[in-house]
Amino acid sequence: MSSGAESEERKFAAEWARFLGADFSVPTANGSSAIVACLESAGVSYGDEVLVPGLSWVACASAVARVGAVPVFVDLDAESYGMDPIVAEALISKRTAAVLLTHLSSSIADIDSFQRICADHGLILIEDCSQAHGAVWRGSRVGSFGDFAAFSFQSSKLLTAGEGGAAVARTERNFMALQEARADGRSWSNEPARKHFPDLAVGSSLCQGHNFCMTEFQAAILRESLRHLDGQNRKRIERVALLEELLEGIPGVRTVRRRNDPRVDVPTFWHLPIQIEASEFGGADAERVRCLLSERVGLYLEPVGAPIPAHDLYRPGLYNRFPREHIRLLKAQHVPLPISSLLSETCFTLPHHALLADESCITEFADRLSEVRTDLIRERA
Ligand SMILES: *Cc1c(COP(=O)(O)O)cnc(C)c1O
Repeated sequence: MSSGAESEERKFAAEWARFLGADFSVPTANGSSAIVACLESAGVSYGDEVLVPGLSWVACASAVARVGAVPVFVDLDAESYGMDPIVAEALISKRTAAVLLTHLSSSIADIDSFQRICADHGLILIEDCSQAHGAVWRGSRVGSFGDFAAFSFQSSKLLTAGEGGAAVARTERNFMALQEARADGRSWSNEPARKHFPDLAVGSSLCQGHNFCMTEFQAAILRESLRHLDGQNRKRIERVALLEELLEGIPGVRTVRRRNDPRVDVPTFWHLPIQIEASEFGGADAERVRCLLSERVGLYLEPVGAPIPAHDLYRPGLYNRFPREHIRLLKAQHVPLPISSLLSETCFTLPHHALLADESCITEFADRLSEVRTDLIRERA
């Protein structure tokens, strides 16, 4: 019910769209529901195929499977940690309807190539910016390039309210569809807010809706946090510059992200992937280094996780709401993804909050990593 004032939810929606330089934004319960809302608003449905990253959080694929479409996995580029546009284009079929272009870890995807691919093949471009809040590509924020964009504000993300999400659209029609997807088919009222009356109208029935609504409490937290996002992103840029300088002095270690690309104006750092060359660490793999280093710095360094089709949490075979033939199609997407597998096996990640620490902590992190390396080499000898 309305308090008589404009809701925090609608204020955040407007502020988020303004921050992104996007046309329209609709807050949602979480990032996964934002992706579902984008797919349904775009008309992606049963039997369609959607290109998704081979290595990412499982929701990139499970949200696609949930609307009845088939996620088709695109391998990554080993240097940039981005979805590989050449691989993606080769996977396009008559059934391909959309691309879920995910800005992964600490890299902006090659947006220009995917915009060209989507234009050439008549595909819907949905950016998944759940790991890249505030990143800037060729002068504009990520989330403003696609037909749609989805964001997560879950507790691990750069901007968070514990849980939460947002969907972004370009056109009024899609904005209306997203509103309906969010609130069981209803949209925001055009009437002035009235105390004790709901801020809802019966929509134009573009979408069969769900309850994907964000709470007032989450919206209020996000409005406040948004004021700090750019400053925090700037600080992380400085810390990463220092860390990378220090890592240059340690053989067999590098960060994996899109670098030396003039199209990236402001990079964001979510989980910074650090790649380990086992031969330089006495034969120890990234997992061994991750465990030792986590203990020594007293900070949980996250593993990258398996490529989605091999991930324990991605189990499309458990759906029993689709015909067997469709389930077989979902399972058939368990394809080899050599670069995703390589990155998953050779990297661990440094979480973004550690990159807000003092410079001395960054120096200590590099020192501890160097020590771990020396110990592992000595152990081998
Ligand atoms: C976190 C994340 C999601 C899912 O967001 P939730 O808020 O957890 O539902 C989707 N895509 C990517 C790339 C993510 O990192």
